[in-house]
Parts: sequence; C-alpha cells; structure tokens
Amino acid sequence: MRTLLKGVPHALAQPVCDALLGEGIESRVVRPFTSFAGYGPTPPAEIVILNDDDTSRALSAAAECVLGLASQAAEEAEIDLSKLSPALRVACPACERELDPRLAVEGTIACACGARHDIVELIVNQHGPEALEGCTTTREAADDAPTLMHATVKCIHCGYELEGLARRGICPECGKPYDKAVCVLHPYLAAEFKK
Ligand SMILES: [Zn+2]
Ligand SMILES: [Zn+2]
Repeated sequence: MRTLLKGVPHALAQPVCDALLGEGIESRVVRPFTSFAGYGPTPPAEIVILNDDDTSRALSAAAECVLGLASQAAEEAEIDLSKLSPALRVACPACERELDPRLAVEGTIACACGARHDIVELIVNQHGPEALEGCTTTREAADDAPTLMHATVKCIHCGYELEGLARRGICPECGKPYDKAVCVLHPYLAAEFKK
C-alpha cells in the first residue's frame, strides 16, 4: 500500500480513484477525520494504491484523468468582456488600429481593415492572461465547477497557466520545458515522486 497523492480536492479525488480502478489499479480515497460534520469545505483527500508495483501506471492514469477534468473546467469557464477595464484596448495585428475589445461579437472582433480576430487571444497576447482576471465566470449551473477549477494546469516552475497550449512544450513565461501530465499532479505528489 502506498500513498499516491495528497491534498487532493474533493471534486478530483473520486474521479481519479474511479479512473485508477478503470485501469485495474486497486485504489482508495482516504479522507482525514473531520470534527465538524457537514460544516466548512470538504477536506482534501489522499489517494492510496494497494499494490506498490502499480505506482508509475497509477501516476500516469491519474494525470490523464485530472487533465481531462481540467479541460472540462476550462470549457465551462466563460469570459465576460464587459468586465474588462474600460481603458483596455488591443491593436489589430494586421493594421495596428486600436480596437475596443468590448465591441467583439461572440468572441470575434472585426477590424475596419477587414481582418477578424479572436478577441481573447489578442488580449492575452498583448496584455497577458492577467488582463482577463475578474472576467472569467464559471457557469453557475455546474454545481461542482468551483472545485473542478482546482484542476488548472500550471507550469511547475513559474505558475504560468498553460491553458490552451500543447500537451508538452516550452513554457512561454519562464522558457522551461513542461509536460501537462506532470504539471497537473505536481501539487498533489508526495515528495518522493517530485523529482
Ligand atoms: Zn485592422
Ligand atoms: Zn513556466
């Protein structure tokens, strides 16, 4: 028996455990004892596997599962451009005209020069992802969405959000190589696996 992951948010623990079972890897979700039944956030869980020989297979199956959940959470997040700073402008990459992002229709902005651009891409390229802070709303209908947002894929070196980038590559922020499978599990890995 071996503790595979620690501090796993509630919304991730059971799906990961199910994914492991789906691969034929016997695992359990272990929750720390809680004193105030029903109050406060559900404490993070640990995932243990029963057979140590399954460790590397279990880590990759867990990574695939968390990556799947992360991309699902990203699809559910919507960007509300009306919450952008009123002063924020982007430049048309084709003609360099200044454009007001709030004039975008369904995520696309049309410039007077005839070019059409993905507005979120322009904002991120020209002002960085932090310009969208405060504009992301998660669909309220999805009850478990706030907890699934724990499954964001961040660079383990600098914390940059790797959303929308290739599975493996070079982090645009710090220039170090990343593998999303490693990134998603990194916050939950026991020290012995972190090398
Ligand atoms: Zn233009
Ligand atoms: Zn980085």
